[in-house]
Amino acid sequence: MSGNAKMIERSLRAVWHPCTQMKHHETLPLVPVSRAEGVWLYDFEGRRILDAISSWWVNLLGHGNPRINAALRDQLESFEHVMLAGFTHAPAVELSERLARLAPKGLGHCFFGSDGASAVEVALKMSYHYWRNTGRPSKSGFVTLANGYHGETLGALSVTDIPLYRDTYAPLLRRSARVPSPDWRLAGPGDTPREYAQRCAGALEAYLERNAADTAALIIEPLVQCAGGMAMHDAHYLRLARQLCDRFEVHLIADEIAVGFGRTGTLFACEQAKIAPDFLCLSKGLTGGYLPLSVVMATDRVYQAFYDDRLERGFLHSHSYSGNPLACRAALAVLDILDEDKVLERNLRIAAHFNRRAETLRSHRRVAHFRNTGMIWAFDVRGAKPGFGRDFYRRALEAGVLLRPLGDTVYWMPPYVIADAEIDFLVDALEKLLETD
Ligand SMILES: *Cc1c(COP(=O)(O)O)cnc(C)c1O
Repeated sequence: MSGNAKMIERSLRAVWHPCTQMKHHETLPLVPVSRAEGVWLYDFEGRRILDAISSWWVNLLGHGNPRINAALRDQLESFEHVMLAGFTHAPAVELSERLARLAPKGLGHCFFGSDGASAVEVALKMSYHYWRNTGRPSKSGFVTLANGYHGETLGALSVTDIPLYRDTYAPLLRRSARVPSPDWRLAGPGDTPREYAQRCAGALEAYLERNAADTAALIIEPLVQCAGGMAMHDAHYLRLARQLCDRFEVHLIADEIAVGFGRTGTLFACEQAKIAPDFLCLSKGLTGGYLPLSVVMATDRVYQAFYDDRLERGFLHSHSYSGNPLACRAALAVLDILDEDKVLERNLRIAAHFNRRAETLRSHRRVAHFRNTGMIWAFDVRGAKPGFGRDFYRRALEAGVLLRPLGDTVYWMPPYVIADAEIDFLVDALEKLLETD
């Protein structure tokens, strides 16, 4: 048996893969990876696949990045991990200080979690606990956008609106309120994305007028609702949401887990609306796709509401690996590279090349709603048959590209190190895949 076949067989016997109906692997190939470099994943027989979705959006600066590798080796020379309750270390301190300098103003307190969902749990609990500590325990509800995604643990799933992930577990979930998404695809023929954003903010206003007294926070994915099909909206919505949250005394939680660290063209998506949330959730690209780590950044006002002699007024939440030094060092290396290599400036050029090359896709008869924000591209496929996504994924792999459609939406969000020749390879593959369906 070949190296690939053996690995596949062992995996299917012992590993329960995420987000997968395992029976589908009777026909869908599982891809064994033996090494990875830059935008490429290599199997055990040397065949390579272009990682056009940054391994579920986490890999910012390519696989096997020498500078991140070096930072991790260096950290291993001193220590690997220590608990963050009662103890502290330079990687966590430096990362907190750096993030506070880079993030929208006023988010000076970093609380570390293990992954995206745990960051969302932290933000929801902190928001509720803030209102409780300030004498308003009835403010316990959460408002979300239609089609939003915030992770799949029970608390995070309760503010997620993707029926496929949510409906089965609905009886386990606490109810949250849902307001219309400013997704510009839903705008009427006479509406600009900005006008549509304005109308959606009107619906949020109407909701808060009635329910602010029972509402702790609004949680949103700024600029792009990623898991919900790369739905993009005008930054104006964020400005209006910020104003409404201020007016009705409701927290604004910005879930930038997928869009943080340059994905939308600015370091943080909130910058494009010139707003600061009360809580900023970060994960995914934070460590460049190396290690699980998340952080919730909170304002001083929130922090002060927990600062007290009484134990139970503190935020008694923990994860064993909170602030793991290796993960923090990877994150610091990512911030160094983004800064030293002027990566966001370079991305403007990469995006321009993509958009030039993708003109043929934009006008393709099967392509609807071609869209781009920063380093995210997506389009919806007209006339997609049932099972389109899985079939497209399989055919893309055969063409040497990792693309994993969300329903009928094809998207790509590659690592920022993608070269022109690799962009050409990807766009050529996309064109062929649309023709040969
Ligand atoms: C991926 C994601 C999460 C969940 O992160 P995990 O690390 O998968 O738990 C939460 N919110 C958004 C916007 C995401 O894209």
